[in-house]
Amino acid sequence: HQPGCECHDCYTGSDCSKFLSNCSANAGSGDPYFLEPFWTKHAASSGVLVSGWHRMGYTYSDGSYISQLLLDYLQKLHARVGNAITEGKHIVFGSGSTQLLNAAVYALSPNHSSPAKVVATAPYYPVYRTQTQFFNSRDFSYEGDTSSWINKTDSNYTFIEFVTSPNNPDGKLTKEVLEGDNVKSINDRAYYWPHYTPIPSPADDDLMIFTISKLTGHAGSRFGWAIIKDEAVYEKMLTYLEMNTMGVSREAQLRALKLLDVVLHGDDEKEIFQFAYSTMTNRWKRLKETISKSKRFSLQKLSPQYCTFFKRERDLSPAYAWLKCEREEDKNCYEILEAAGINGRQGSVYSADNHYVRLSLIRSQDDFDILINKLNTLVAKH
Ligand code: PMP
Repeated sequence: HQPGCECHDCYTGSDCSKFLSNCSANAGSGDPYFLEPFWTKHAASSGVLVSGWHRMGYTYSDGSYISQLLLDYLQKLHARVGNAITEGKHIVFGSGSTQLLNAAVYALSPNHSSPAKVVATAPYYPVYRTQTQFFNSRDFSYEGDTSSWINKTDSNYTFIEFVTSPNNPDGKLTKEVLEGDNVKSINDRAYYWPHYTPIPSPADDDLMIFTISKLTGHAGSRFGWAIIKDEAVYEKMLTYLEMNTMGVSREAQLRALKLLDVVLHGDDEKEIFQFAYSTMTNRWKRLKETISKSKRFSLQKLSPQYCTFFKRERDLSPAYAWLKCEREEDKNCYEILEAAGINGRQGSVYSADNHYVRLSLIRSQDDFDILINKLNTLVAKH
């Protein structure tokens, strides 16, 4: 606890050391507070001070909404991590990757012919569905799970498949399910960082979306980027961004630049990745130990793979546990956990069965410690 700071919700007292016994473990949202200690360590070098006169105009001096220096940093970052090919491709920035998801749907949809069918494979991140439905358009509509469309990708329609790899909620390295020239995919690579997964090879998909939210942990800065192969798709995404927000806030770009400066140009070029990977691996070790004592609950099974970044085989260390209540009668796993003081998210949020619950493992160390304590108590009872 730092003097002058507020206590965690579950603690009280002048030094925040008194645990409130009726406090539940927060394993719901994916706020990436696990990276906070890295940034506390680099507090001075990662700070930005913006004077009143700075960057008042709409554009950079080259007339674009995109900082060229930040673009160079992103290309350097992908080359360093080896998680995406950027050579010969176009890059656009978005207000978080959330803005880019719909920009991509728009850009891949045909104009004024049959609406594109937007699909994803369960369990999937619900925003693909809710956002596509919310921005209801003549050019695209959400058409459910890919499983309904296998071998039925009628060539009169364009299909837009969301592929999340590693997947939210289960952390698996997934691939496209549908095939055909009329199937286009949006590869959401939010979690394709050594924090969460081995990097078997650089991703080289036609349209890839990344975000600092799960890389540096700055979800509130709202900064994401898309790497696009096709020039026409790139132009359409630029049009969307021009119509929608006229580019990303200069302050958000400046903050991302400063953060990436620390990531790229610190004394140890692997530091943030080592820190994030060891934090996540440590959490997974403790979680697996706890759940292994139980027959009633299980975790997703993920096999180790060779990681080109760490140059050795390693386990996956996903951002979320995809916990299953194994008993047939435990049809509402969420309620069982809730009764034990653990707040996760129901499987149905991800279009999956409610025998499953997603538990966020990327929150603060306090949140994680409370989660493990509650799980240990629950497991001991069954
Ligand atoms: N894609 C996936 C798979 C996510 O889990 C999230 C955030 N939880 C996002 C995109 C959105 O991230 P951003 O903060 O960049 O909008």
